[in-house]
Amino acid sequence: MNFKDFSFHPPIAAGVAAAGYSTPTPIQTRAIPRVMQGCDVMGLAQTGTGKTAAFVLPILHRLLHGRRRAVRALILAPTRELAEQIHQDIEMLGIKTGLRSATVYGGVGIQRQVQLLKSADIVVACPGRLLDHIHRQTVDLSHLEVLVLDEADQMFDMGFLPDIRRILSHLPQSHRQTLLFSATMPIQIRRLAGDLLEKKHVRVQAGHEAPADTVNHAFYPVARHLKTALLLELLGNTHIGAVLVFTRTKHRARQLGEKLAKAGYRSTSLQGNLSQARRQNAMNGFKSGKYQVLVATDIAARGIDVSKVSHVINYDIPGTPEAYIHRIGRTGRAERRGEAFTMITDEDRQMVKAIQRVIGVPVEQRVLADFNYHASARVKANPCRGRRAQQRPGSRTGRKANRRAAKGAFDWLSPRKAKLSAHGIPAADLL
Ligand code: AMP
Repeated sequence: MNFKDFSFHPPIAAGVAAAGYSTPTPIQTRAIPRVMQGCDVMGLAQTGTGKTAAFVLPILHRLLHGRRRAVRALILAPTRELAEQIHQDIEMLGIKTGLRSATVYGGVGIQRQVQLLKSADIVVACPGRLLDHIHRQTVDLSHLEVLVLDEADQMFDMGFLPDIRRILSHLPQSHRQTLLFSATMPIQIRRLAGDLLEKKHVRVQAGHEAPADTVNHAFYPVARHLKTALLLELLGNTHIGAVLVFTRTKHRARQLGEKLAKAGYRSTSLQGNLSQARRQNAMNGFKSGKYQVLVATDIAARGIDVSKVSHVINYDIPGTPEAYIHRIGRTGRAERRGEAFTMITDEDRQMVKAIQRVIGVPVEQRVLADFNYHASARVKANPCRGRRAQQRPGSRTGRKANRRAAKGAFDWLSPRKAKLSAHGIPAADLL
């Protein structure tokens, strides 16, 4: 299939060319014709599949003709970063259309948004701030034709469903086309879809609820206090491009970003405690290559669209298998290959099993032959200085002891795999 087959109006085709897209992705091939026919669509697709263009292009095509400077399309997204990303995609793909998009999210002044809303054709919004505008009557949604809920499962995880339902109650009911995109379909999202979409809506899916197959997965068993040391070892011994590291908490993201910077990496962190300007700075710096390593929390990382992420490293295992899919959706994008490393501790065994189930194939478990798995908490920042590490990590005794430690600590892993990895995947294989 070719983009020409969609018969987009020339300004939209020009946008596709400007973006440099030559072949539609599977979700685009499946969704675009149905959206252009005016159908309600439920798209099951994760980030990295090209789902944004799958709804943005048909929306631009539709809005090209008809009333201008009235909000005719509303896109709801869970985070400012994702809203900003969608807005940028609209600007890029709509460069020849003259249509205007405005973003609406909290954490920045409201007045500028009020001004932009007056002349917007498309609004990309996070639910909370949009409700503010609705209550202040600074947004007129009476001309709405298309509603998109993007990353609906994430909006649900973040507790936005009540806000979304409130927003829906303010939208005109007639003649609305509704598109709902989600990486996973928990029961709450299925219910929402049942309420929102026409009965005869179309369901399109890019792959199944599993991560893109352009990603290699590996688990790294390690004691909790050695995670930072192992991360440094991994970064030092792996051929890395842009690396996205995930932590569970904001505090840890900040701390780890600082530690990596001290260790000589061009690194920064992205977490919810930062001002909007600093978030943007971190994001832009990561995109431009100024920062090689970005340490982020799940929520802050939504919408990060950097096509060249070579490695996603889960410093902390995610809380749900869905979150795992979202995280690693940042690498292996648009046909590139990517690596997803996850550090696992003894407490993570349930989640490890759940993630394995979602991925559908056994994940390789790796032990670094030259890493000192015995270092005590006291020496966590530099394992090579540990008392136990006086058995030089690379020495035969050190290696043997490493295997024993890794085997002993993680004997809950499948025996065959534990044995395999405990016998050491040569460090060279990690390069
Ligand atoms: P998304 O899943 O919307 O976040 O898109 C992931 C990445 O793929 C973004 O960087 C898009 O610009 C890019 N992309 C989307 N559609 C295409 C396409 N047809 N060809 C190449 N890249 C694309």
